[in-house]
Amino acid sequence: MDCLFCKIIAGEIPSNKLYEDQQCYAFYDIDPQAPVHFLVVPKAHITGANQITDENSGIVGHIFGVIAKLTKELGCGDDFRVVTNCGPMAGQTVGHLHFHVLAGRSLAWPPG
Ligand code: AMP
Ligand code: ZN
Repeated sequence: MDCLFCKIIAGEIPSNKLYEDQQCYAFYDIDPQAPVHFLVVPKAHITGANQITDENSGIVGHIFGVIAKLTKELGCGDDFRVVTNCGPMAGQTVGHLHFHVLAGRSLAWPPG
């Protein structure tokens, strides 16, 4: 499958890996938008948040647990933002579900 993040998970494209387990893979964003900016993706190819169902939604809870652990380890304290963009209008550029984790600076709301 011609998917950038599937290739990163498979090690076919290099990444700055932060964490990996059987279900998910976390790596630093190549174009960081905050002092801490990493992505967490399911290893299973799910194209986006619009494809989450009762059958596959367990990965979302798992990923949020991983995010809580990683943000603690990275010293983000309790201040971070988790974002998933779905569809081009929302700014999704890679068609594999991913959660951005941003921290280390004050983050404005609402986003643009
Ligand atoms: P989105 O625009 O929400 O789909 O997010 C895709 C993210 O993937 C962007 O923040 C990109 O900077 C990031 N990205 C694209 N290619 C790579 C790569 N090879 N390694 C790490 N991050 C990447
Ligand atoms: Zn994929």
